[in-house]
Amino acid sequence: MTEAWWPEEDDDRPGRGLSGPVKVRVPAKINLHLGVGPLRPDGYHELSTVYHAIALHDELTARRGDTLTLTMEGEGAGELALDESNLVLRAARALAAYAGRPAHARLHLRKQIPLAAGLAGGSADAAATLVACDALWGTELSRDELAAIAARLGSDVPFLVYGGTALGTGRGETVSPVLARPTTWHWVVAVADGGIATPAAYAELDRLRAGYAAPEPLAAPDGLLAALRQRNPRVLAASLGNDLQAAALSLRPALADTLAAGTAAGALAGMVSGSGPTCVFLAADAAHADQVADSLAASGHCRAAWPATGPVAGARVV
Ligand code: C5P
Repeated sequence: MTEAWWPEEDDDRPGRGLSGPVKVRVPAKINLHLGVGPLRPDGYHELSTVYHAIALHDELTARRGDTLTLTMEGEGAGELALDESNLVLRAARALAAYAGRPAHARLHLRKQIPLAAGLAGGSADAAATLVACDALWGTELSRDELAAIAARLGSDVPFLVYGGTALGTGRGETVSPVLARPTTWHWVVAVADGGIATPAAYAELDRLRAGYAAPEPLAAPDGLLAALRQRNPRVLAASLGNDLQAAALSLRPALADTLAAGTAAGALAGMVSGSGPTCVFLAADAAHADQVADSLAASGHCRAAWPATGPVAGARVV
């Protein structure tokens, strides 16, 4: 494909930004710790979480255009609405409004991250859009400025602008990096058929908690942070935790079989990822992750099982 037929620069800042396609890769996230506090008056729950970006990526390509359009392929194509409710289009419009320029771009999304899976795929795509349009339009915002726009789009979006391993507080939108010595962890991601809507998982947790109060104030995940510093997967395995797991299991009892299949396959630990229904398992090393993934795939208790390392960078131009 040549670039000769792209429209001439039509924005209000000729000379800035890239004229060619900008391709951005963005990872999925899991939560190594997800502590959920009480429901707040604004409809969100106070969180104390440790986000972790894993090597399961979506790819967003932004090209110059004279309107804003979105096409997609891969996971969820044909299911995901491509209208103005789509978080990608909302992200492009939010950046354009912040920068005071028209939201003109042709966006194409190649999805590998399953929809409504507890892996923040939609949030990842929004983060990718901010980074891609920032480069395409030459708005040259800092990561922190992009993260501030991201926070208005969704609780997980700022983390996906940064990636790595990070502490999330507030409703998850306040992110600070975890300074651990670089260690690669080996995960297996067991994808389920169908999704769980995030609000449904939180509502189910509230229902299960009726009669007793959520912990307040939320404890900081000190044990998990100490385990990350030890760089020993067996120590990390004992520190993983997710308050939303009970809700996901209540909505989808068959996930207990997926977790049991991972344990039977020899995983060091397994848990529901975020609001589910994806389950993630910790392995000792790359070969062990391959073996756990093969056993899980053969067990019939998930749609697919993929090895994935973490941490990895957030949304980046490639
Ligand atoms: O922030 P985001 O738009 O991704 O949140 C989607 C929904 O998930 C919220 O409307 C809310 O129902 C639930 N949620 C929550 N507490 C959070 C984050 C999300 O209750 N901290």
